[in-house]
Amino acid sequence: MSSSLDYDLLIAGGGLVGGSLALALAPRSLRIGIIEATPPTGTSEPPNADTDSRAIALAFSSRRILESIGCWSTIAPKAIPIHHIHISNRGHFGVTRLDTTQASLPALGYVVRMEVLTQAIYQQLKKFAQIEFIRPAKIINIINNAEKIQVQITSQTHIQTLSTQLLVVAEGGHSLTRQLLQIPVYQKDYGQTVITTNVATERSHQYTAFERFTDTGPLALLPLNEGYSNVVWTVKNAQAPYLTAVNDKIFLSLLQQRFGRRLGRLIRTSKRYAYPLQLLWAQQQITHRAVLIGNAAHNLHPVAGQGFNLGLRDVAALAEMIADAHKVGQDYGSLDALSTYTKWRYRDQCLVTKFTDSLIYLFSNDYPVLSQSRGLGLTALDLIPPLKQLLIRQATGLLGQQPRLTRGLAL
Ligand SMILES: Cc1cc2nc3c(=O)[nH]c(=O)nc-3n(C[C@H](O)[C@H](O)[C@H](O)COP(=O)(O)OP(=O)(O)OC[C@H]3O[C@@H](n4cnc5c(N)ncnc54)[C@H](O)[C@@H]3O)c2cc1C
Repeated sequence: MSSSLDYDLLIAGGGLVGGSLALALAPRSLRIGIIEATPPTGTSEPPNADTDSRAIALAFSSRRILESIGCWSTIAPKAIPIHHIHISNRGHFGVTRLDTTQASLPALGYVVRMEVLTQAIYQQLKKFAQIEFIRPAKIINIINNAEKIQVQITSQTHIQTLSTQLLVVAEGGHSLTRQLLQIPVYQKDYGQTVITTNVATERSHQYTAFERFTDTGPLALLPLNEGYSNVVWTVKNAQAPYLTAVNDKIFLSLLQQRFGRRLGRLIRTSKRYAYPLQLLWAQQQITHRAVLIGNAAHNLHPVAGQGFNLGLRDVAALAEMIADAHKVGQDYGSLDALSTYTKWRYRDQCLVTKFTDSLIYLFSNDYPVLSQSRGLGLTALDLIPPLKQLLIRQATGLLGQQPRLTRGLAL
């Protein structure tokens, strides 16, 4: 069977970023189709809620965007505020501490479990009749005309052709539609894997996020409910199978050696998950009537907890460009309109990507000159107020020109 349907906007990928974009544009009454590869779960749960122990550190700017798109009130009761950030260098001098009082904000950020975040977005999406999920489905062919872009999708029962003024690709790092659009990517394999788990600790975290750089890679402990922290431990690929398979007692003692005793004894650990890491950067983010956002455009190492935060800022800027053009009847799928968006986002995306990538280089090896300079760097960051303010603005996501959604204004 074959049929053709027209949408104001098509979003390929209904993950955190694609779902947030649909919500940001919901007040504009656009007809939005979300093409998602995974089947519906039958509940409001996201595709991978039961297999993902990820806790996401949200920057303060992300809280504001989630407020603007109507999700924060569902998330807030389960969000753990970050009042302090403690950055240290295992086995060497040098510490930087960031504090809520230095930022003049109620929190530097928040830690939210992946499933809480995705459920809040999915629940909110259900409230809008003009947002339609097309799932399970994938784009298999694209025809780009001057006025419209046409996509052929394959679903369980049939092939269908959909058309739209703009196709937004939010399919994550391994996007097939990005390939169909023939957009090349720069890829860098770090040879590292992240192990995530939750641990119970003897001492309270006091709402502190710890970032500890070790000679084998960075290790973060993010505050969860009282007495628990989420572990994001970067290790060399070869170590990952052992660390995920070893018994809890040995795992905890190895983790304790790496992390030290700032939270006292590490008492218990939950199931561990492994995520291989790579940097991926689309060499072009727009073509006529198509744009890449979120991980489909830039897939970062999670060391600085910036991937989703950066993707949400893409959402806020793109939604603003589309809403403004739509209000005055302009073509938001044209290359002109899309390049306004990419020019706006370029600086933030480059800064965060380069910052994250340099952290890996600086802190994942033990050359004597490097270890001395990173100790000096951390001390300087701690002692020089303007540098610290810059780091706080970057950590809170409030650096540079802020979109209306980040300022709590309607589109
Ligand atoms: C261990 C770990 C910890 C992290 N911690 C943080 C953190 O603390 N803070 C932070 O900001 N970020 C963090 N991140 C990054 C964050 O998880 C990602 O940046 C974010 O999930 C990206 O969202 P996305 O919607 O762009 O992509 P994804 O989450 O990958 O979603 C893509 C969606 O598209 C769908 N899809 C894929 N292919 C197709 C297709 N061909 N057709 C249709 N649909 C398709 C998928 O099913 C999925 O629903 C972390 C990442 C990892 C791995």
